[in-house]
Amino acid sequence: MTQPIVRTVLGDVDPSALGHTQPHEHLLIDLSRPKTTRRPVADRALDNAPITLENHYRVRRHHTSEDLRLFDVDVAVDELARYTASGGGTIVDATSIGLGRDPRGLAEISRRSGVHVVMGAGFYFRDYHPADVAARTREELTAEIVADVRTGVDGTGIKSGLIGEIGLSHPLHPDEDKVLRAACAAQRETGAALMIHPGRDPLSPLAALRIVAEEGVDPSRVIMSHVERTVFSAAEMRAIAETGCYAEFDLFGQESSYYALAPIDMPNDATRVDYIVDLIAHGHAEQILISQDICHKTNMTRYGGEGFAHILDHVLPLMRRKGIDDAMIAAITVHNPARALAFPG
Ligand SMILES: [Zn+2]
Repeated sequence: MTQPIVRTVLGDVDPSALGHTQPHEHLLIDLSRPKTTRRPVADRALDNAPITLENHYRVRRHHTSEDLRLFDVDVAVDELARYTASGGGTIVDATSIGLGRDPRGLAEISRRSGVHVVMGAGFYFRDYHPADVAARTREELTAEIVADVRTGVDGTGIKSGLIGEIGLSHPLHPDEDKVLRAACAAQRETGAALMIHPGRDPLSPLAALRIVAEEGVDPSRVIMSHVERTVFSAAEMRAIAETGCYAEFDLFGQESSYYALAPIDMPNDATRVDYIVDLIAHGHAEQILISQDICHKTNMTRYGGEGFAHILDHVLPLMRRKGIDDAMIAAITVHNPARALAFPG
């Protein structure tokens, strides 16, 4: 039998080598490209302005174009120094195609920071699809995803270790349905985990999981991201976990009820931990993942944000205060992500 491995941008490693892992982050990303679905930033001068103390609040609240671009390898290496100083070991860069995925940049960041970095594969939601996705067949898309995992991205030899984040809207666009089914086929072929970014509707996660089941994917190989901006009750969280997938609370650090991308009441870190306590009480401890989904400049300490060490420095003490013991914290932050990311090499 093949030994399970975790596939990083610097090669395959033993799953026990990962340590504290944040399974949904972005070290390099360009979210600024599609203008179609973004609400225009009313203040045109602000949209591309450098971030200052004076404009920081407005930039973070409205996500200006400048805020949505993480291109700087040096900044990422600095940010990860804070992550390792607080005990971090591994970052999953869930940047899929259409979001500016950069295998060489990620490999350099990993080499210089000493952090294991796992790179994504597949496509983000429709507004970010490259122009040719509409014309390509499901089989062609599957072959590309499989090649990214097996042989590497764009001739770099740098391989993806995760299929995702696969972006969905609600209702699902036909091209997103095709991409999701292609990703399912690639999951079955490679064994790599499938990470889904659901549409911003409470119906989207279970609808996506029905497609995943139709395509024959083992639900224990699926990570449902962003659960806390998508469903808003413990019962709905449990319904997602009851399918057998991972439920990922990945917006830790977003402490405001305001969410720029949808008219919802965003929970804060305390509420996220309360949902996690409920899932543990209902027997779902082995399916919980936590992360910060850092994807804006204003999330970085360089720009006055919380940085990648926020969970380690501030959320783990909160979890302890709410009765989650150290063994359970290790399950959620070390063992669950290691199991999710492992596949036969
Ligand atoms: Zn996402």
